[in-house]
Amino acid sequence: MKLLMHTCCAPCSVYCIKTLRKENIEPTVYWYNPNIHPYVEYRLRRDCLKEYTESINIKAIFQEEYGLDNFCKNVIGDLQNRCVNYCYRVRLEQTAKYAKENGYDTITTTLLVSPYQKHEELKNICEEIAKKYDLDFLYRDFRIGFREGQEEARKAGLYMQKYCGCIFSEESRYNFHNSAKTDISTDTSDIREQMPQVKRIENKEDYIGLLLEADPSKASIMKYLQDSDVYGLKLNDEIISLAVILHIDKNTLELKNLVTKSEYRNKGYAKRLLKHLCGNYKQKYSKMIVGTTENNIPFYVKQGFDKYEKTIKNYFIDMAEEEIKNGELVCTDLIYYSKDLKKK
Ligand code: SF4
Repeated sequence: MKLLMHTCCAPCSVYCIKTLRKENIEPTVYWYNPNIHPYVEYRLRRDCLKEYTESINIKAIFQEEYGLDNFCKNVIGDLQNRCVNYCYRVRLEQTAKYAKENGYDTITTTLLVSPYQKHEELKNICEEIAKKYDLDFLYRDFRIGFREGQEEARKAGLYMQKYCGCIFSEESRYNFHNSAKTDISTDTSDIREQMPQVKRIENKEDYIGLLLEADPSKASIMKYLQDSDVYGLKLNDEIISLAVILHIDKNTLELKNLVTKSEYRNKGYAKRLLKHLCGNYKQKYSKMIVGTTENNIPFYVKQGFDKYEKTIKNYFIDMAEEEIKNGELVCTDLIYYSKDLKKK
């Protein structure tokens, strides 16, 4: 196999290269990322990858293109779907083209390591582009080693970026939109009244309606509800978010349900509730796991659930007679991640 590996940055390449080398596969690293802005960031990531590939003695090709104008022109009409509609495609298409013209028979990408990427859609795009160029696509779910790779990268002193790449992802890390909405709705006449508080909920079954918005199976909720601790975030006199925590063993908890009333979503309330509970439970427990759908993984990873545990294939297809959707995504697999509660 002659493998060309599209490579987004040095930290993400660490686990991918290590795993492939263990399988006796020697990839050629291929840098082509016109999605990284501004230029100072582009240069930092590129130069870090140059140094890293030299230090581990791996062949690397750098296809230069700093494409701010072109990138913006192509994504501005549909920012929501920019990753799938443009960003993955343009990088993988160039990788396949280069591979075809230069005698490689297989392509892959380090984007497969990141739990922040839309993994299934990325995989489909890779398959489609490889087929178009009559190449093979080497697929691995590298996400299992994301944390391990990031830790090694940190130890090796590699430059660790703070956002995915484009200026839109750079903006979203500050959550400008949400804070703006919160500011407008805040009545400053009684600040203390507006501060949400965490309350233990005893009348659990009164909240089934809200819990069903995060877990569509009433039978499944009834199964875990009685044995779980339920906490609510109370704003004024209203419970606006709920978290259901099941005790698995003396060290481990499972977050079974986390939901916020629709009118309060995207304001950080679920995150606040979860952070509070993790802070309390860490006195007695060392690990919390959560099973989630593909498009909620980035949320949980940001809350520290960054260790991949397992996948239950077709979980949502097998459990329900009708298709279950989360936004635009049809739910299929249940994917588990865990958080080390003791980690600072
Ligand atoms: S968020 Fe990342 S993958 Fe998506 S468009 Fe921006 S740089 Fe590309």
